[in-house]
Amino acid sequence: MPDISLNKPYRIGRSRTGLGLFATKPIKKGTTIIRYIGPLLDCNKEKDDAVENKYLFQITSRWTIDGSLRKNIARYINHSCKPNAESDVRKIKRRVDIRAIKDIAPGEEINYDYGTDYFKEYLKPIGCKCDSCEKKRKKLRAAAREEKKHSRARAEKRAGVGGSRRKLNGHKARSAAPKNSKARSAAKDGRSKKRS
Ligand SMILES: [Zn+2]
Repeated sequence: MPDISLNKPYRIGRSRTGLGLFATKPIKKGTTIIRYIGPLLDCNKEKDDAVENKYLFQITSRWTIDGSLRKNIARYINHSCKPNAESDVRKIKRRVDIRAIKDIAPGEEINYDYGTDYFKEYLKPIGCKCDSCEKKRKKLRAAAREEKKHSRARAEKRAGVGGSRRKLNGHKARSAAPKNSKARSAAKDGRSKKRS
């Protein structure tokens, strides 16, 4: 694992999807955390254009940073759909810095949104594992469980499971209705009688 000097506010650590970059100190919103470094690829050059890996960061239609080298610590930062950092792309300088867009607490994983192209190509097919998407999935699963429970109950009702008892109840209630009203009025009478 590459060395990171101690004054840096991050470390590489285990995350849900493998490795990730974690804050070791409080990082204030707006702070530049790290630069995304690597050789610049010129897509007008055939050799450069042929490079293919998951760490390509496109700056303009022509220039792309190949961030696959291990010294590019920023490549450990995972994608999130609800990130606490962003990529600050400076097209003229052909530089990309990762900047905090929220206050980040020590221990928190640092992440930024990789963008639509990456999401569609790499994350959508396998399902995004970021916290925000995991939470959404959990919610959906819970809702699906609820729905299953309800539809099972509905199906049982239709199939008449426990229906005989329910029918009996209905039957009793209907025939007992006049009795009940008599009883109620009797009780009323009784009460008024007791009072008088
Ligand atoms: Zn996500």
